Amino acid sequence: DPLIGGVPAGRIAALAAREAAAYAAARPQCHAALEAGAGAFLGGVPMHWMRDWPQPFALVVARARGARLWDIDGHGLDDFCLGDTGSMFGHSPAPVARAIRAQAGRGLTYMLPSQDALEAGRLLADRFGPFRWQVATTATDANRFALRVARAVTGRPRVLVFNGCYHGTVDEAMVRLHAGRTEARPGLVGQVADLTRSAIACEFNDLAGVEAALATGEVAVVLTEPVMTNSCMVLPDPGFHAGLRDLTRRHGALLLIDETHTQSSGLGGYTRLHGLEPDILVVGKCVAGGVPAAVWGLSDEVAARFAAYDAARAPGHSGMGTTLSANPMQFAALRATLAEVATPAAFAVMEAGAARLHAGLAHAITSHGAPWHVVRVGARVEFICAPGPLRNGTEAEAAHAPALEAALHMALLNRGCLIAPFHNMMLISPATTTRQIDRLIAAFAAVLADLFG
Ligand code: PMP
Repeated sequence: DPLIGGVPAGRIAALAAREAAAYAAARPQCHAALEAGAGAFLGGVPMHWMRDWPQPFALVVARARGARLWDIDGHGLDDFCLGDTGSMFGHSPAPVARAIRAQAGRGLTYMLPSQDALEAGRLLADRFGPFRWQVATTATDANRFALRVARAVTGRPRVLVFNGCYHGTVDEAMVRLHAGRTEARPGLVGQVADLTRSAIACEFNDLAGVEAALATGEVAVVLTEPVMTNSCMVLPDPGFHAGLRDLTRRHGALLLIDETHTQSSGLGGYTRLHGLEPDILVVGKCVAGGVPAAVWGLSDEVAARFAAYDAARAPGHSGMGTTLSANPMQFAALRATLAEVATPAAFAVMEAGAARLHAGLAHAITSHGAPWHVVRVGARVEFICAPGPLRNGTEAEAAHAPALEAALHMALLNRGCLIAPFHNMMLISPATTTRQIDRLIAAFAAVLADLFG
């Protein structure tokens, strides 16, 4: 019997079968509702990622509040997925819900600014730094638009990304480093453009590789998360970010830091906490408390370069912006989140809770002798079913254990704990209680006892 993450494959399969059956038996109403109503959707779900949860069929959600979520069979779950960060500050934070209610009677979208927009701009600069902001609806779009600006002002074609990265459904980030070469990732739907002309992949933590790529003179911008949160969880080596900034400056490339996930670090994100100096900053997902919104900001210098470019370009479509973006509902939610929800006090609660979870999971791993490890970036905790630390996307890919992780996720769900699909991520919101955290630690330890006992 081969071992996966130190566990015999047969034991994993038995756990998965047991947990899938228990899940299905406990959710007749979810199952019946999907049977009756899901046929209208392509593949039976309104967004195909909803098929990627490990349970036999999706949870149908009745409601969610704070760090709890209830399905239509009446099961309450401690939610550590939190919409994979969109609800990192908890479901329906009271100030955001209030702001939405107030705006609901004043119009939902007008393609014009409101007073909340002006206050949100001041708050963005106060929290994240003196960037020149634009509002988009998803972090994917924020990245896409920012990459266009980077190409425009540098006059260069390529984006440097790190192997194993994720920045939304951005074409330039859909490449990998394989046998030392950049190539399109397998599995892309309908991809016809040659992505290797517009992107180049390097390994995270490999400054020599980055330098070689920058030396081509073709790189407009390096696009990176401060920590690779989408590839297990890979931390930067000491000096990696300083080296990246130095090399990009020396080679005339811009640096775009995508803080969509690493806002979990604290107020102002990892960038502010660690004094990074990006030319472009992207912040998405939870920035407006769960209302779809993302922002991208240019440093003063890049903003001035872009203004000159913009003044000289031919009239016509820019390829940036969408009609529903920067709508008054987003501004209301953005303002409320920045002013009243994403506060230093909230981050202190999140940090302490995540430290407790990290310690509890690490203790369970050690006491069962599992060859696993735990990594944390502020409120964001990830266990990895392989030894660590991981240093790059190649190591992260090798560490990923889909069958084991799926069985484990279902076992946690059946014990009342929902964690993010695709990987092993858990978020602590300001609403998450110590009891919820301790229940997750206990559930995790119980499953480990089963797997390693
Ligand atoms: N950037 C990062 C770092 C992300 O992890 C994601 C989504 N997981 C995105 C951007 C894209 O966000 P969205 O799905 O809201 O477009």
